[in-house]
Amino acid sequence: MPLGKTLYSNANIFDGNTIHPNYSLAISDGRIMGFGQSSDFESSYFDHTIDCQGKLITESFIDSHSHILSYASNLTKPHINYQSIKSKSDLINQIENIVKSSREYWIKIYGLQMQDRQIYINKTDLDEISNEVPIVIYLDSLHGNLLNSKALEIIGVTEYTNEPTGITFDRQVQNGKLSGYIFEGDQLIDEYMPKSSSSDLKKSLDKILNLYQQNGYSIINDASITNDLLKFQFLSSIGSNKPEFPKIIFMPGYSNLHEFSREELFYKSSIGSLSLGHCKIMLTASSGQCVPDIETLSAQVNKSHMAGFPVAIHAVDNLSVKAAIKAISMNPFENDRIEHASELFDEDIENIKNNNINVSTHPSFIYERGDLYLKEKNPEYINSLYRIGSLINSGITVGYSSDAPVSSINPLIGMYANFTRTTRLGEILNSAEKVCIQSTLKMLTEHNKTLTSVNSERAIQIGENSKMLLIDIDINNIDSKYLNNINPPIKWIN
Ligand SMILES: [Zn+2]
Repeated sequence: MPLGKTLYSNANIFDGNTIHPNYSLAISDGRIMGFGQSSDFESSYFDHTIDCQGKLITESFIDSHSHILSYASNLTKPHINYQSIKSKSDLINQIENIVKSSREYWIKIYGLQMQDRQIYINKTDLDEISNEVPIVIYLDSLHGNLLNSKALEIIGVTEYTNEPTGITFDRQVQNGKLSGYIFEGDQLIDEYMPKSSSSDLKKSLDKILNLYQQNGYSIINDASITNDLLKFQFLSSIGSNKPEFPKIIFMPGYSNLHEFSREELFYKSSIGSLSLGHCKIMLTASSGQCVPDIETLSAQVNKSHMAGFPVAIHAVDNLSVKAAIKAISMNPFENDRIEHASELFDEDIENIKNNNINVSTHPSFIYERGDLYLKEKNPEYINSLYRIGSLINSGITVGYSSDAPVSSINPLIGMYANFTRTTRLGEILNSAEKVCIQSTLKMLTEHNKTLTSVNSERAIQIGENSKMLLIDIDINNIDSKYLNNINPPIKWIN
């Protein structure tokens, strides 16, 4: 950022509400001196003039739902690369190569796609690769794992083990035996898995925070259900010495909430650049029934509120969304939210509105997963997916989130997907739900401020030293060349 007076001229400036074409922004020693129509500014008055013809200026972004620690550990581990996989044996060969070349005792692999039933593997396939070393493969949704027999043995899961509440031990249809897939079992598996050394984790966290910064984020929310006091303390020990890194809002997992209360850490308590956010509650209906049931869920919501925390309920499928709305409506509070809300019918949108519930969702799924959704072929289901346009038009506060590392952190993907509803293979998903770039920018800024209870004043105001971004994109036609990498053309002003 140049010192003295700088004029950013001829830009499209988003002021938190509207995009103003052909506007200029004047900055003096880091403070906004003025912004308005370009013709109102005399460039000779300024020490520097930067021509921003056709570029976008906006305040920096907030990611309302992300998983920083899993992103960091994910970064250091091997991933399945589907681009070179055409058949089941390709997949098995790839896993075998990873296992053979690994020098770790526990083998962790990321990125198994479960939706693609055509190349389905289970524990028997992994056992053929090795039954000596434990293998754990993470689904790309990060809501399930495939384990080989050795790994199951170490975590103490046998054919006769009872499922702990909320965890599913998947079984094979043919014989009722364990398939090796465990859903929502992170807490169980984590306990037995060797931890990455804290210096390794710190290094990859630095990389990750850098990446968020490059993608324009000044605040990120960590929404992991396994968030506990130890992780909070670990995160508070890093990053504070780097002012350019985004601030982190850490959402405690419901089952660990008491650890924070015991340490007198409450909603919005902060240590350095880290602060406490909503209490994260997990809700799934993968077995066709909501877990936990509505009474338990309502009690969890109530208990979080009693501790002073608004809740953020993970609810993807429609059954879960309905239960989440009900539990929140039974326990009114300020600023409760639903995470994902991926499948919605008209009555759900009405109920979300009537109960003042906010939503955090990720438009980038439309682009990245849209082709898998479209394989379902059920129009009722497809029409219920990511109804972001309808949510916004009903006046609901909808925040943008990346859900990284499940989905890319590049915000241009979400802008593109919202604007065009186009999938990676060029298909269209629910074109009626399109959202203009201006509204996506609102999701990334003002709406996310409301969602995360951050000071809701507009950032682009005279006298402010706001963090702003200069983005080299055409707001009427985002070039798809920006969609497949994590280095979008974003520069920081201030
Ligand atoms: Zn998530």
